[in-house]
Amino acid sequence: MNWITNYVRPRINSIFSRREVPENLWHKCDECGTMLFHRELADNQNVCTQCGHHMLITPRERFKHLFDGGIFTEVSVPTPTADPLQFRDQKKYPDRMKAAQKKTGEKEAMLVATGEIGRTPIVAAAQDFSFMGGSMGMYVGNAIIAAAQEAVKLKRPLILFSAAGGARMQEGILSLMQMPRTTVAVQMLKEAGLPYIVVLTHPTTGGVTASYAMLGDVHIAEPNALICFAGPRVIEQTIREKLPEGFQRAEYLLDHGMLDRVTKRTELRDELITITRMLMGLPPAVKGDLPAPKAGVAEQPDAQAKPAEDQPKK
Ligand SMILES: [Zn+2]
Repeated sequence: MNWITNYVRPRINSIFSRREVPENLWHKCDECGTMLFHRELADNQNVCTQCGHHMLITPRERFKHLFDGGIFTEVSVPTPTADPLQFRDQKKYPDRMKAAQKKTGEKEAMLVATGEIGRTPIVAAAQDFSFMGGSMGMYVGNAIIAAAQEAVKLKRPLILFSAAGGARMQEGILSLMQMPRTTVAVQMLKEAGLPYIVVLTHPTTGGVTASYAMLGDVHIAEPNALICFAGPRVIEQTIREKLPEGFQRAEYLLDHGMLDRVTKRTELRDELITITRMLMGLPPAVKGDLPAPKAGVAEQPDAQAKPAEDQPKK
């Protein structure tokens, strides 16, 4: 240690780090490498404006674009026991949770909300891949049950956006128990005669694909989304064979009868409005004639007026 390492180097570092452009202002597309300005990218729902590559989108951002005027009411989800197995890998499970909460600003890996799309009342649930890989633990199970109960109570369709690496290994068998639990929740909707629509986003894998993500009345996927139980690398290593091009991707699954549609994120809202209205026996929505609800006039009194840029784009 001398004065160079103690004094000069920290000073130089601080000068350079201050001048650096914050990296979140520009986002590089993983597919075509184009640098995209963050605001432009957010306006286009995290879809590359150059090549149409669909990047991750948080549930909150998605709901802002999905619901009329970006207004929705969150449905509260019962909090399960924290760290029931006292699990520890390289880090303790509670530490991993804290880090994920800090990173995303969310409590857990799923957001449930009620609101209207094209004046059609719905309940929506969306999984957050940025929160521990969207892994399905007890909270996600509770969230799906809360969403199904809310939908039955309000007699509304449920739209679920899936995105997950599978079950949450830190919760062991308790996370696997969410598969039958959520299956029963979906059954509640079917018994009530309410539509359950699943939008499979990149990636939807493991126990999530093996339960609630594949039990919908209608299955829509975003372009090029990986949807599978075991991933292509695992299969390739097991069968020692080269897999066909585009295997387990949305378009491949559509061709092989696993999906009903593959729809671009920017066109999803209109399509969901059409499908939900059709399944609920409502007259078709009038397109382009739906001003966003205003504060005070809105059906939800606690809703706040949103600036114009938050309104869903066509
Ligand atoms: Zn791109």
